[in-house]
Amino acid sequence: MSITRPLWRPAYVAIGSNLNDPRARILEAFGRIAALPATRAVLRSRLYLSRPLGPQDQPDFVNAAAGVLTRLGARELLDALLGIERVMGRERHERWGPRIIDLDLVWFAGPPIDETGLTVPHRSVSERNFVLYPLADIAPELDIPGHGRVLDLKLRAGDNGLVALE
Ligand code: ATP
Ligand code: CA
Ligand code: CA
Ligand code: CA
Repeated sequence: MSITRPLWRPAYVAIGSNLNDPRARILEAFGRIAALPATRAVLRSRLYLSRPLGPQDQPDFVNAAAGVLTRLGARELLDALLGIERVMGRERHERWGPRIIDLDLVWFAGPPIDETGLTVPHRSVSERNFVLYPLADIAPELDIPGHGRVLDLKLRAGDNGLVALE
């Protein structure tokens, strides 16, 4: 990976886990994100407990969000995040099934991106309180193109069983 960009750009990552001690996995992911090349972890949300999306016969999730500054491009950052998922032992089975770690690139500075395997802002951001609550901890004023201001989206989504853990 050659990194020639001098500019540090902000991005936000949604983090979720419901296997293998989810709280510890979220904290591990924060550390691994901070250790990515050309990337600095700047902000960490609180941790939240949420009911699973899709299949209900799986453990509750722990969710969080991280704010980073990075010299990576959006695709490079997503590839790095998918690499963290792999080294942490993520396996893909059923859609929205249980997972050790899920790292979604919610927002990246600059124009929206819609390419194969990379859509930013993340398509479902405004429908998911388990993304919006953590994100509102660290970026309440962020205006997500095509969706709206994070704090407004959070209030619209409602807590609906979501609980802050700390
Ligand atoms: P959802 O995307 O609805 O939250 P999921 O997180 O369970 O579902 P995954 O299996 O983790 O879905 O990811 C499927 C693919 O989505 C990834 O391989 C990746 O290429 C693609 N993708 C596109 N845009 C993004 C993004 N902004 N963040 C993360 N993955 C993305
Ligand atoms: Ca770093
Ligand atoms: Ca996801
Ligand atoms: Ca994902």
